[in-house]
Amino acid sequence: MAARSDQSGSGGKRRERQSRKPKDAPLTRSENMSRIRGKDTQPEMTVRRAFWAAGLRYRLHDKRLPGNPDLVFPGRRTVVFVHGCFWHCHEGCSNFRIPKTRTEWWVAKLARNKARDADVRAQLKAMGWDVVVIWECEADNARQLAELTEKLKGDKSGKS
Ligand SMILES: [Zn+2]
Repeated sequence: MAARSDQSGSGGKRRERQSRKPKDAPLTRSENMSRIRGKDTQPEMTVRRAFWAAGLRYRLHDKRLPGNPDLVFPGRRTVVFVHGCFWHCHEGCSNFRIPKTRTEWWVAKLARNKARDADVRAQLKAMGWDVVVIWECEADNARQLAELTEKLKGDKSGKS
């Protein structure tokens, strides 16, 4: 057996993980966002806590479904996406503003996100799933979140 030479060196050098900021992102948007909101809320966690408290039970991030929905309610045939207002283009929302630098790049990037979301929703609907989108700003609003939770909890068509 020949001695192994280190060819590509893959796995050899270990880089320190610093931040997980994508290389593309000109500025740390998330830092900016969390500063705006004053705390480091993760909308998805907020939603999960609210649902759980309301007695809703779900599966997380089902990889078998298009778009890996954040929350899946198999019995209700409903999936929920918790969308960041910026990345998923919440039109008319104050969290959604195209950055003033590299504007064209952002417009193209966000348009792709939006198109992908629409595609995922269409695929899921074609498979017979109801798709619910909860925006980050809705998750941040206790009253709105409570309403959404109730809506989801209430049976939509009289079946329990
Ligand atoms: Zn929003």
